[in-house]
Amino acid sequence: MAAAARFDVLVIGSGASGLAAAVSAEKAGARVALAAKGSIQSCNSAKAQGGIQAAFGEDDSPEQHAADVWKSSHETANMELVEILTSEAPSAIHWLEELGVEFTRENGGYRLARCGGATRKRLLQVGDRTGHAITKGLREAWEAGNGTTFDHAPLLELEPSWRARCGEHVIEASTVVLAAGGRCYREAEERGELTTNHPGATGEVTQIALDLGAEARDLDALQYHPNGGAWPENMQGYSIPETTRAYGAVLLNADGEEFTDSLGPRDVVSQAIFDEVEKGKGVESPDGRPAVYLDTTRISAHDAELSLPYMLRRYRAGGIDPLTEKILTYPVLHYQNGGLVIDKDAQTTLEGVYACGEIAGGTHGRNRMMGNSLLECVVFGRRAGRAAARN
Ligand SMILES: Cc1cc2nc3c(=O)[nH]c(=O)nc-3n(C[C@H](O)[C@H](O)[C@H](O)COP(=O)(O)OP(=O)(O)OC[C@H]3O[C@@H](n4cnc5c(N)ncnc54)[C@H](O)[C@@H]3O)c2cc1C
Repeated sequence: MAAAARFDVLVIGSGASGLAAAVSAEKAGARVALAAKGSIQSCNSAKAQGGIQAAFGEDDSPEQHAADVWKSSHETANMELVEILTSEAPSAIHWLEELGVEFTRENGGYRLARCGGATRKRLLQVGDRTGHAITKGLREAWEAGNGTTFDHAPLLELEPSWRARCGEHVIEASTVVLAAGGRCYREAEERGELTTNHPGATGEVTQIALDLGAEARDLDALQYHPNGGAWPENMQGYSIPETTRAYGAVLLNADGEEFTDSLGPRDVVSQAIFDEVEKGKGVESPDGRPAVYLDTTRISAHDAELSLPYMLRRYRAGGIDPLTEKILTYPVLHYQNGGLVIDKDAQTTLEGVYACGEIAGGTHGRNRMMGNSLLECVVFGRRAGRAAARN
């Protein structure tokens, strides 16, 4: 085996949370290594479309944002983490802007949408490629620094104090940041279901931490995105952005009736769709899959062009124009709500091991609101990186 390479901080994962941690640790003066399972671009974060929440509206506040998270989590979230999430959201957005992320603007301010479970318009967007824009900004900041990247170097083993085997590399570090995302790709494969996730979302890093004695919470709480694409075939497993509903699309059953609040919390909306289909009030896709309608014809062309251009392009390439015909949708496995227990510096219950992003639990309780995951990646990625560097 190769001789060990030595760093102050080792970050596992190159999604938004890992990149935010790596950039922040380096800026704090640490010698940082980042190891990713595949290429550095491969992650769920880059696939995120809809947006990122932050209380910028005149009628809004971090307190209101926190209250919405608490309610959407069905009062299961860790409020200490939630208050950090929502109070640091505006500064996280400004930090991303400093890194070159250009959020969509209108009328002299940010273009804000209301997402499911929210009482205010709070969702910032970069068209409908928000995750792509955020990871690009973070990746460029990381690559402009002096950190070391190990790609195609999956974490295979971690020994206390800390010695990691990442693919063919042995890496020693004083502190480790686990930012390896969730496990919905593996779960979907095991269940024979569709998922929105990238193939690297398999959860083995969580298992490595659990084997070392780390505590976790709500690991059983997996989230279905209410609006997976059901047809055409090229859109199956695609998550139709929640912004379609924010901009007026509604869910309809086979009789054309609205059967739920289309902007309710995600778990409630998904369950309503499952129930409607169970009652025999759903429709079938041409290849026999269960579905209901999402009436996207109610979205104005202006809103669609500004906030849904990528979605429109993809559907039109598949022969369907969502602005002139309703589309077919059904919930799809999407997000791991729970994860490793962390404190306000994102430290796990293992001294010197931090966790941020989808691998961590508590911030969303048992049900996440859309737009809070990218936010969590940036807010707690920064905290994890700074604290890991300090140690
Ligand atoms: C299609 C889609 C749309 C979404 N839309 C939104 C949205 O609009 N707003 C929002 O807030 N959230 C959205 N989400 C959720 C959000 O994007 C993710 O939850 C979040 O970006 C996860 O970031 P992360 O850094 O924790 O993990 P990821 O971005 O998944 O990154 C994990 C990284 O860890 C690496 N990795 C995994 N295992 C190992 C290992 N063994 N060793 C080394 N590296 C490993 C992976 O290769 C990857 O680099 C969406 C998710 C999807 C899939």
